[in-house]
Amino acid sequence: MSMRYVSTRGGAAPVGLSGAIAAGLAPDGGLYVPETMPRIGLPPLDGYLSGTAQRMLEPFFEGDPLADDLPAICAEAFAFPAPRRELRIEGAHLLELFHGPTAAFKDFGARFLAACLTRLRRDTARPLTILVATSGDTGAAVGAAFHGLPGVRVAILYPDNRVSPRQAHQLGSFGGNVRALRVEGSFDDCQRLVKEALGDTALQADVPMSSANSISLGRLLPQMAYFGHASLHAGERMNTIVPTGNLGNAVACLWAREIGLPIGEVSFACNANETLPEFFAGRPYRARDAIPTIANAMDVGAPSNFERLRHLFGDDAATRLNGHAESVDDAAIRDTIHRHAASDGEVFCPHTATGIRVFERKRLAGDRSGWTIAATAHPAKFDTIVEPLIGRRVEVPAALAAMLARDASAEPMAVDGRVFADWLRGW
Ligand SMILES: *Cc1c(COP(=O)(O)O)cnc(C)c1O
Repeated sequence: MSMRYVSTRGGAAPVGLSGAIAAGLAPDGGLYVPETMPRIGLPPLDGYLSGTAQRMLEPFFEGDPLADDLPAICAEAFAFPAPRRELRIEGAHLLELFHGPTAAFKDFGARFLAACLTRLRRDTARPLTILVATSGDTGAAVGAAFHGLPGVRVAILYPDNRVSPRQAHQLGSFGGNVRALRVEGSFDDCQRLVKEALGDTALQADVPMSSANSISLGRLLPQMAYFGHASLHAGERMNTIVPTGNLGNAVACLWAREIGLPIGEVSFACNANETLPEFFAGRPYRARDAIPTIANAMDVGAPSNFERLRHLFGDDAATRLNGHAESVDDAAIRDTIHRHAASDGEVFCPHTATGIRVFERKRLAGDRSGWTIAATAHPAKFDTIVEPLIGRRVEVPAALAAMLARDASAEPMAVDGRVFADWLRGW
């Protein structure tokens, strides 16, 4: 029996896994989800993360042309660990998702998607061009994942002067088949340029293109694996706090629980963008513009995976019973980073700090259970925020240091679809 994928909006024909990954968005504007959630037996305890990933993802690949390649895809994507370690904070564990080349959890999803897309390429005479608009972390992860792979190339579009200096350096450091464009506009302008180019059939005929958007199943599915792997080693059902923006990581955690991994409660930590906390407090879902915070990778007012969350549980009421979301503002993030560095020596990135704060609120409210907090990025990535708060330097992980040591350059790009199309044709 092969697994089929349907749209959250119910208006598109079911497709296989490869079709869903290649398409990104379903034709009715919805997001692809499995037609039925599989249930699996528990993977063996003694294996590596890549082995757990393979066991968890087998039913999702069943009957697809990519199924035979799943072991190789997992080996390529899960080439670094995601350790769960005890914190020097009683009752709390940290699930460190930042040991990849760009020091954020997005490395796992980006590498998995790259491994899938390079195998799905049909037109072998011409390269496949991946377009990615980024406000920081996504572009670097996608660039690193595709860098040096044959038959593919990546154009990263980011808003000039609106990403951190280290982020800008990372984005421009690849060279070769990965080029960075600093767009004279906002993140929304970058996204619009990408959307227009992908929807331009004449341009598609000249330059075969695809996207590495965060709604892609090829990025969501692999994110189930590290939650599942960690839960197998937790010794009890693993209650999990997930710092959340577009709900990609959080939905992956809930899917892992749904297929049978021993994950307990799942709590979403948000920054000052309150769309989800308001919804879980009982008010109707209301998307809005994002407001800027120091946890900028979570600056989202309309979480793109909300449709998948509601689809999983059926309706608003059932969704509220299965989750919980809290907002942590910039002052609380700063206080959390400063206080832990001073008291127990733990240093967190601003996104991870939202999760730590939610844990502390649970303790204050009398919750005595154990919790695992997902650490979504390494604090060295956000040195300009973290270092003044802790009063010392944050040591830079080796992979990130290597990337920062390379030369970096980005090309300027106007917010003009025709200029961008010409640039693509001329590459
Ligand atoms: C992308 C990102 C998030 C938010 O993840 P979602 O899957 O969009 O909820 C949190 N922290 C960091 C560091 C990120 O890069």
